Amino acid sequence: MRIAIISRNKNLYSTRRLIEAGEAKGHEMHVLDPLRCYMNINAKEPEIHMRGKELPQFDAVIPRIGASITFYGAAVLRQFEMMGTYPLNESVAISRSRDKLRSLQLLSRKGIGLPVTGFASKPNDIPDLIDMVGGAPLVIKLLEGTQGIGVVLAETRKAAESVIEAFMGLNAHFMVQEYIKEAGGADLRCFVIGDKVIAAMKRQAKPGEFRSNLHRGGSATLVKLSPAERSTAVKAAKTMGLNVAGVDLLRSNHGPLVMEVNSSPGLEGIETATEKDVAAQIISFIEKTAQLHKTRTKGRG
Ligand code: ADP
Ligand code: MG
Repeated sequence: MRIAIISRNKNLYSTRRLIEAGEAKGHEMHVLDPLRCYMNINAKEPEIHMRGKELPQFDAVIPRIGASITFYGAAVLRQFEMMGTYPLNESVAISRSRDKLRSLQLLSRKGIGLPVTGFASKPNDIPDLIDMVGGAPLVIKLLEGTQGIGVVLAETRKAAESVIEAFMGLNAHFMVQEYIKEAGGADLRCFVIGDKVIAAMKRQAKPGEFRSNLHRGGSATLVKLSPAERSTAVKAAKTMGLNVAGVDLLRSNHGPLVMEVNSSPGLEGIETATEKDVAAQIISFIEKTAQLHKTRTKGRG
């Protein structure tokens, strides 16, 4: 197959591993920088161009779109979908998953366990908002943050009020969440492909930190999931419409809670912690599921 990886940098670990795994299985792998792609929207036949030339038809496309370029990256992916190329994850599902609040609303509709979460825009509503999530300590999150940036633990009610007022003053969208203390600064990253968790790791925050992100100094180890954790992760990915997803769970006193669903989960941490060839499993999944002109949305939505 001719497979495109939409990625800004072919030297990133995840991109390199996908190229290696694809080539090992005899596929023609191309890395395309989405910001170098431009599109003819009006043509009868949708086209994508790069450096003055039209791109050839691809059988499948693997989107690895960074959070900072979600808008443009999703537009490029949608154009591939319109051209009939099979996307590993569809553009609509990626756009959905990038908004933490929208994601939680979709997950709650399916009865998936979530930390109690509140959302408000007016300063007058702050006291009730804090009560709604059970008071301090609580977590305040910017809706479009990643890698732990924009996630704050407010230990007291006063601190929570100040941070919320500051975010409101900046017109930033944020949500307020019950703090799952018993998780002990750890979360579970479940790597879902299709209807299976194919690898999982526990990420532990460094001492004095509650955010377990590897980018914030967290460390990762292999973990064995309970059946409830597995089924929650698979259901969460399915609800978001993602074939491949990194589902992050918190272990709470009342079962697994979904914190977020990542549409471009990194491979380095999970392959290192689990010693599994995740890249090869992604390529195998594409081999099984990709058929030209078989995208579900064909770029709609
Ligand atoms: P990001 O998208 O920036 O990674 P997350 O929502 O995943 O944001 O939060 C970052 C980290 O903070 C999580 O990995 C987890 O360790 C911790 N965390 C987030 N929300 C909670 C919560 N409600 N209770 C306890 N810890 C949390
Ligand atoms: Mg996270």
